[in-house]
Amino acid sequence: MRTPFIAGNWKMNMLSGEAEDFFKEFLPAVKDVQSVKIAVCPVYTLLHQVSELVRDSNVKLGAQNVFWEEKGAYTGEISPPMLKDVGCEYVIIGHSERRQHFGETNETVNKRVKAALAHGLTPIMCCGETLEDRENGKTFDVVKSHILEGLQGVYESGKEEVVLAYEPVWAIGTGKTASPDQAQEVHAFIRNLLQENFGEDIAQRTIIQYGGSVKPKNIAELMSQPDIDGGLVGGASLKADSFTALVKY
Ligand code: PEP
Repeated sequence: MRTPFIAGNWKMNMLSGEAEDFFKEFLPAVKDVQSVKIAVCPVYTLLHQVSELVRDSNVKLGAQNVFWEEKGAYTGEISPPMLKDVGCEYVIIGHSERRQHFGETNETVNKRVKAALAHGLTPIMCCGETLEDRENGKTFDVVKSHILEGLQGVYESGKEEVVLAYEPVWAIGTGKTASPDQAQEVHAFIRNLLQENFGEDIAQRTIIQYGGSVKPKNIAELMSQPDIDGGLVGGASLKADSFTALVKY
């Protein structure tokens, strides 16, 4: 069965002292958690420090983006081997903030996913509709294109592991969570897409996280849905006490 997986997306937050304080409180509080996989995805500048802090703990390290080339004249970019070198196991790809503000497309998401997998990183590939899409009845079309174009040619050996995160854009950072039924409906749609396009094994083993104002007060009900396997958490992952409450839901 799928082990629940909760990842914190710190976005562009936290300085080194704050990260140190966070882990001083968080690591002892969650050290006995075995039934949930945990990851934290800080900004690039904190990866080395956080890698040292979480070493030998049950908390894994992830980054918030990655470029697809290995090295070269790409000023400002970070490659998959660089993330591996600093101790990352996961990398968020195609977050809606990158699609909205930095020109990310399904095509570039697909390149990043393939490059991450080729270097032994597990992508957390995001999908999700805007409020306008939802109001125009386009939720399923948008999610379908994010999933199928993002995953095009990805399952070559059938062994590849990609974590998916369904994040309705209207629920990110707004305090408006999708209701458990609304989220489940899209998660079931995604699992069905996986089954139709990549087979039953991939559909059944793929972790599909929900993201969008996940808080300690709503996580248990979301996690009780059959196709919600975890959470990608922004705001509530920035404080050790609320992130602890989330992973101990
Ligand atoms: C996110 O950053 O992916 C996110 C879901 O943010 P928040 O939990 O703050 O809505």
